Amino acid sequence: MSTPRYVVLGHPIEHSLSPQIHRAFAQQLNIDLNYDKIDVAPEDFAAFWHDGEGRDLAGANVTFPLKQLAFELVDETDQEALEAGAVNTIVRRDDMLIGHNTDGVGLLTDLLKNLQLPVNGQRLLLIGAGGAARGVLGPLLREGPAELVIANRTLSKAEALFERFRGKAPMCISALDQLGSAGEFDGIINATSLGYSTDGDDSSSDAEVTLPECVLKNTSWCYDLNYGKAALPFLDWASHAGCAKVHDGLGMLVEQAAESFRYWHGRSPQTGEIIAQFR
Ligand code: NAP
Repeated sequence: MSTPRYVVLGHPIEHSLSPQIHRAFAQQLNIDLNYDKIDVAPEDFAAFWHDGEGRDLAGANVTFPLKQLAFELVDETDQEALEAGAVNTIVRRDDMLIGHNTDGVGLLTDLLKNLQLPVNGQRLLLIGAGGAARGVLGPLLREGPAELVIANRTLSKAEALFERFRGKAPMCISALDQLGSAGEFDGIINATSLGYSTDGDDSSSDAEVTLPECVLKNTSWCYDLNYGKAALPFLDWASHAGCAKVHDGLGMLVEQAAESFRYWHGRSPQTGEIIAQFR
């Protein structure tokens, strides 16, 4: 019997670290793994699964900009995917495609377990209202922050996100350019893609963070869902503004991958050594 095949799908996909991360997990746990990456344009996504290579896959990770399409494609979802309206992990079970969203678990495991940053009882600022913000908001609210403010460049998208999660915890919204009057935050999470340029490069020379420094106090922490060069604009802003606890999203990337791996293979890798290896 041939080794079951797994892939990560996205558009673009060449910069994805997922194949290396999953191979490192497989090596650690002595599992024979067939995992690679495939670029699939949004307009080809459904046909890929119904008539193309997708028919032979045991599972897939799905990344930008395909997570909402994956949600529409699958036959069943778990609670996290349903809440987010987005799927980043597909598992084939018999003839069914099951959709999961592991972004929230990935972020919370990195914040709470790896970095020991508090969320419960804290006043949080979530910047961004795209697919990643949707994936992490429910799990963040379940940790019981004192208040969570969603700020986004396009205010209507922050409003839509607020409505989707209304009533789950104290929450309000703000335009990005109104944060000067929003007060101080214990933790700030950047879930925007502002560090990416549109040409597929992983850093943007004109990316600029223009947040007011008064949102920070001397004990605040800052976390960017991005990693590598794409995280620099936000993390540099935070460091220059005096924040001592700044973290990129590499830990979240590895932790969300570990949760996908567990769905597929029924075993959990030790993530600490893999994060250190990729750092
Ligand atoms: P998305 O759906 O395209 O949303 C992009 C978000 O970024 C929107 O809120 C958008 O605001 C905002 N934005 C883009 N350019 C901006 C700029 N110049 N200034 C201010 N805001 C800007 O993307 P996504 O799926 O949410 O992903 C967001 C980021 O998270 C990506 O860079 C992705 O790589 C990262 N991510 C990391 C992990 C991980 O495991 N570490 C997991 C998931 C995602 P508007 O609404 O105004 O356009």
